[in-house]
Amino acid sequence: TRMVPSRSMSLHGSRGLCMAMERTYIMAKPDAVQRGLVSDIIGRFEKKGYKLVALKLVKPARSLLEEHYDSLKDKAFFPSLMDYMTSGPVVAMVWEGKNVVATGRTMLGATNPLESAPGTIRGDFSIEVGRNICHGSDSVENAEREIKLWFGEGTIDWSSHSQGWIYE
Ligand code: ADP
Repeated sequence: TRMVPSRSMSLHGSRGLCMAMERTYIMAKPDAVQRGLVSDIIGRFEKKGYKLVALKLVKPARSLLEEHYDSLKDKAFFPSLMDYMTSGPVVAMVWEGKNVVATGRTMLGATNPLESAPGTIRGDFSIEVGRNICHGSDSVENAEREIKLWFGEGTIDWSSHSQGWIYE
């Protein structure tokens, strides 16, 4: 793999390797906030070893969600998705680490909670696809797009002391 050294997106492992780090957009949806599941979602990413680089509580405007879910605008469930997502505050966050986009999706579980494996966030805490408590970017390109959309102000560049115990 080609290494992409950049100060904000890389870290030096204990062997001195410079590893390219990926970032993903994760969101606790309004039902997660209402049900007190925010800490569980954050806790799983934190305990896994991923690094939190942005976090905020937002009551998103419909226009922001329409842009976020632009690829779904022709779906029959789109109006109910907009009602659900504008029903209360969400917790928007950006997590950084090796393969975090795909692994983040695995941690969330399948879109339909009845098909999400036990042990995943959706599999453990939800039942209906229209109340599936969390969002995670589905590709590196979409992650970049969503991070820009939700965090125009940028993310926080900080060095985590635990990384040398998480990456070899
Ligand atoms: P994901 O969130 O897993 O990336 P999608 O991008 O396909 O899945 O859908 C976005 C969100 O829209 C889902 O998380 C879910 O809340 C909602 N959704 C998807 N499919 C349906 C459906 N068939 N009925 C109702 N809501 C749906």
